[in-house]
Amino acid sequence: MGAPTTPATTGTPPRPIPGVHPASRALTRPRRRLVAAAAALVALAAVGAGSLLDLRTPAPTSADAPAGEFSAGRAYEDVQVIAARSHVAGSPANEQVRAHLEQQLRGLGLETEVQDTVAPEAGQLSGAAGGATLARVRNVVARLPGTNSTGRVFLVSHYDSVQTGPGGNDDAAGTSTILEVARALTTGPRPRNDIVFVLTDAEEACLCGAAAFAASHPLAADGGVVLNLEARGSTGPVIMFETSRNNAKLVDIFGRAAPHPVGTSFAVEIYRALPNDTDFTAFLDQKFVGLNSAYIDGGAIYHTPLDTPAAMDRGSLQQHGDNALGLAREFGGTDLTDLRSGHDATYFPVPGGLVRYPGWLTLPLALLAVALVAALGWLTRRSGRASTGRLAAGFALALVPIVAAPVAAQLLWLAITTIRPGYAELLDPYRPIWYRLAVLALATAILFTWYALTRRRIGPAALAVGGLAWLALLGVLLAVAVPGGAYLTTVPALAGALGGLVALRTRQTGPWPVVAVTAAAAVGVVILLPTVVLLFPALGMAMGGVAALVAVLLGLVALPVVDLLHPQAGGQRGLLALRARRLAVLPAGAAAVAAVVLAGVGLGVDRFDAAHPAPTHLMYAMDAGTGQARWLSHESDPQPWTDGYVDGVTDVGDDFPGLGDGELRAGPAQSANLPAPKLEVVADATAGGERTLRLRLTPQRAARLATLHVDTSTATVLRADVAGRSVPVEPRAGKWGFGLVFHAPPAEGVEVTLTVRPIAGQVALRAMDASDGLDALPGFRPRPPTVGVVGSHSSEMLAVARTYPI
Ligand SMILES: [Zn+2]
Repeated sequence: MGAPTTPATTGTPPRPIPGVHPASRALTRPRRRLVAAAAALVALAAVGAGSLLDLRTPAPTSADAPAGEFSAGRAYEDVQVIAARSHVAGSPANEQVRAHLEQQLRGLGLETEVQDTVAPEAGQLSGAAGGATLARVRNVVARLPGTNSTGRVFLVSHYDSVQTGPGGNDDAAGTSTILEVARALTTGPRPRNDIVFVLTDAEEACLCGAAAFAASHPLAADGGVVLNLEARGSTGPVIMFETSRNNAKLVDIFGRAAPHPVGTSFAVEIYRALPNDTDFTAFLDQKFVGLNSAYIDGGAIYHTPLDTPAAMDRGSLQQHGDNALGLAREFGGTDLTDLRSGHDATYFPVPGGLVRYPGWLTLPLALLAVALVAALGWLTRRSGRASTGRLAAGFALALVPIVAAPVAAQLLWLAITTIRPGYAELLDPYRPIWYRLAVLALATAILFTWYALTRRRIGPAALAVGGLAWLALLGVLLAVAVPGGAYLTTVPALAGALGGLVALRTRQTGPWPVVAVTAAAAVGVVILLPTVVLLFPALGMAMGGVAALVAVLLGLVALPVVDLLHPQAGGQRGLLALRARRLAVLPAGAAAVAAVVLAGVGLGVDRFDAAHPAPTHLMYAMDAGTGQARWLSHESDPQPWTDGYVDGVTDVGDDFPGLGDGELRAGPAQSANLPAPKLEVVADATAGGERTLRLRLTPQRAARLATLHVDTSTATVLRADVAGRSVPVEPRAGKWGFGLVFHAPPAEGVEVTLTVRPIAGQVALRAMDASDGLDALPGFRPRPPTVGVVGSHSSEMLAVARTYPI
């Protein structure tokens, strides 16, 4: 529908109508308009399908694939050995995994050793609530010596799993991939550079294995290129989601040498904003460069008992391996002395490869997009298609769907989680596809409704220019704040502006205006559709609004094509116009109905059952001094099963400082016959007002971790040493002003030396240890099959603490 002043009558031949977008000028005849709409939509659908097909994982090859190639079939045999059961750092199961890895690498004739040491955590982990964190680690390190090495290439993954699951994907995927890459590399000619295979320990606890290797292993002394392999889910494309700074040369090699390069500079920016960490962080703290890759879809099983070998998509494993082998060969043959460049690259996947351009182009391109959109607006006004007022109104109104769609997507998820509270504990639903489609349908419904309501008054041209203006402005904002993500709106805005300019300057009766705006929309599809598809698993449904926002931006680039869906370009009056307006609401109504139906299908299909249990969080904490015990849960809104254990809210910080601060759900529990860790005084000397205590902290049972805290109302801690390493003594808030957490404590215990200034009499120390598994506890009733375990580091934890006055 055009401007209300249009003096046209029904039945007259087509003639120019002011205020109507150029794409529709030639299309006042309904049939021609329908043909144009169909052609444009088919073209966009084909481009979209091509983009999505490009994200598919390769077919896994069988175990009898040629020795020089990566075989998911062979790697999967290792997955089954590594992830036969949970193998948390320090456990007997993890020793068996380590023995298998050593045997495999030695069997290939590689120099293989175990780095056995104590190391502090890498960087500052958000999860290190208990205080200074360390672990005893045993990294498996093997070297393939280069023929004329210019540096070292490190293939890194962690072989430990969480306590709650066998780690079939996380990170048996990376570990088995490295074994298979080692196999392939040892069959061919030796590479020029040293290749070092680093299978780290205690990643799940504190990244301590990687930190130990990066900081103190002789092979790491000169730095090098790190390729870290991870999995945070069970399926989907392998995404290269993190790089070292100044990555242009690395990204260039990635684009050339990885057979299936999926990665975007936007992911790097998102990842920096998320609380997750991997071993890669430990290397970034040191003098390394590198790339971090993972597959992340199927996140519902992450860190849970369901992360089994059977859950693995072997296509994802094949992609991990194809890319890792390709990159190992390329970096293995490249001069590694100069891999740093002066800048970060912008990069993103397109069908057939990886587009990349230097980061310094980001801001100039963003400003160019603003200039071109402004030029388009000026020409639109000059040609009489929109007044200044309408252009301003188009710009203001285009903000409505940009804000409304993400808000609506978040509200939709709020409604769904109200109906099914168990979703709150999952990274993503088990079968998220219906909900993802519902969010897309909702975004479409909002965009179409907004367009149907505003098109008649404001006119298609002004709305199209207004939408592009927002993309261009967002591009400038992103270029300044999040440069790696600026391409997302800058490039579609550039394409849209160019398409609009071409449409204005070509003959209005021919097909070129439609071709131009469709081509511009196609650029938006190529860039934004894969982003939407990758954002869903990256952020989970709880942040589905971000995907909805990107979907609306895509819709704004495609507005001139959307316009063709409207039954007339303008002009009719009376009944026909009314009918046309009603028809214009059809696509919006259809999308809204689809959103509701898809959400309903999601709720119907993705029910919790034995294969897809509702995750619950429970742990047990006992004071061995008083015999008082409690059930504790992190669930904010406890599920029925958890409700059988917890009845109130408590802060356990005073009694169990090793569990960190914050409120937990709690309920009374029977006391169990379990010993607290022993704390012995090995030496005790006072000189010059300082008391130096040499202590030995020894768990009396198979413990995953042990903690020690000092009541700083009894003494001020001046210096602390753990297993011969000094640890920071920055005061913590609250009663226990100094604390440390030691993962995988050895059977003989951990030696801690504290130098304190006593405040009054004895020093009060709180010792705690934690094991895993609640089954043997009095009063514990096994979960029914439809109730599962939350994938958290404290799930199923059994903590015992005691205060020692010394
Ligand atoms: Zn993990």
